[in-house]
Amino acid sequence: MKRVLVIGAGLTGLFAAAMAARRGAEVTLVTDGRGGLELSHGCIDLLTPPLSPETFGHLLPAHPYRRAGLERIREAMDLFREFLTEQGLTYFGSLEHNLALPSAAGGIRDTGLAPLAQATGALADAGTFHLASLAHFRDFSAAFAAQRLRQRGLPVGGVVELALPNLPPGRDLYATDLARLFDDREWREETIRSWRSPLTGIQRLGVPAVLGLTGAEAARTSAEEQLGVRLFEIPTLPPSVPGLRLERALRRTAQAAGAHLIEGAHATGLVEAASIGRVTGVVYVSAGGPRPQRAEAVILATGGALHGGLVFRSHGAVQESVFDLPVEHASERGGWTAESLFASQPYSRFGVIIGDDFRPVGPDGQPLFENLFAAGGLLGGCDRTAEGSRQGIDLVSAYCAVEEALT
Ligand SMILES: Cc1cc2nc3c(=O)[nH]c(=O)nc-3n(C[C@H](O)[C@H](O)[C@H](O)COP(=O)(O)OP(=O)(O)OC[C@H]3O[C@@H](n4cnc5c(N)ncnc54)[C@H](O)[C@@H]3O)c2cc1C
Repeated sequence: MKRVLVIGAGLTGLFAAAMAARRGAEVTLVTDGRGGLELSHGCIDLLTPPLSPETFGHLLPAHPYRRAGLERIREAMDLFREFLTEQGLTYFGSLEHNLALPSAAGGIRDTGLAPLAQATGALADAGTFHLASLAHFRDFSAAFAAQRLRQRGLPVGGVVELALPNLPPGRDLYATDLARLFDDREWREETIRSWRSPLTGIQRLGVPAVLGLTGAEAARTSAEEQLGVRLFEIPTLPPSVPGLRLERALRRTAQAAGAHLIEGAHATGLVEAASIGRVTGVVYVSAGGPRPQRAEAVILATGGALHGGLVFRSHGAVQESVFDLPVEHASERGGWTAESLFASQPYSRFGVIIGDDFRPVGPDGQPLFENLFAAGGLLGGCDRTAEGSRQGIDLVSAYCAVEEALT
């Protein structure tokens, strides 16, 4: 059984840990915090315009998708969907066609795969839809979203405000507070009953994504049956309930497959002189003090600048934070940003460069360590935001890194 160490618990690290454990590895995941999933919409953005031989051919040679190849991109998505289906979260969509979904700000968001609760709101679906605000929930205004969607020519039939009975007194509620209330079956059923009358005559309704954290798909389907309305969810401001559902589902998959999670532990790279050309593992710091965690293969999934995987220094240096790997970046700070705020930003493409086997490479293109692999937000060679490829790159690179680490 190969000992694999994953560093980071975002989408990339959790998927890598789940996959490696399922493939029979002895997996330890070390992380100093939560990943970015609670800030994400819970969908898998793959590429806009969608993946095709033509769009694929336009990607930079160092792009993680180019390293993976179309076949492995497809395999990664299939495995992701398999894991999520097992956890009761059906993901809908394809590589070749993006779904156009309404956003809480009344925009249109393209994505590759979406949980069924969001995919039901795909704007290509024929027919009028309504939007609902929830009383006392300030993070979603149906009227605002409807006005902007109508300006884009979309058939918004109208808006309704739905009541939420017996709310706890005190502060304004977050999406996660409401989701926990919806997890309470009695409260949920009473609430859904109270919605019957205001929803008479409505066929498809968009609500903020708060319909539960646990068993949400089953709860939504049962609410649809009770109301006779097709319900779809629209993600709101963070904390994002769809992102948290995804995080929980992957965490459960990884742990059920035997992965051991060490949380709240900051890791620094361990490279012992006795193992030339190989990394030994990490030293992590937790409440008990520093401890070494050795492994035969290490998958670095520490994210980009926003989560500490990359550190941008004011004097123009950009560092990788665990093994001090070289980071491709513009050495002059003037070259970090584009003149227009709305253009593709050079700093978005900064990151660790990998070879075809997902091992970080040096400026000569040669792997730096035989048993170190990198994936996710840490990788350079792509502008994930401009391309709309953020979560796709996370999953595909995690998939390839695990495959390579286990060969
Ligand atoms: C500020 C912010 C804004 C975001 N905004 C959006 C958004 O608008 N839309 C969207 O879809 N997604 C958003 N995201 C999520 C983003 O998509 C993901 O972070 C990204 O996809 C990369 O995923 P990842 O798993 O590679 O890394 P991350 O999700 O960044 O996770 C990195 C993990 O590595 C851990 N880590 C880092 N360094 C160490 C270390 N030395 N030792 C141990 N653990 C370490 C971190 O604690 C974390 O668990 C945002 C994330 C952040 C942080």
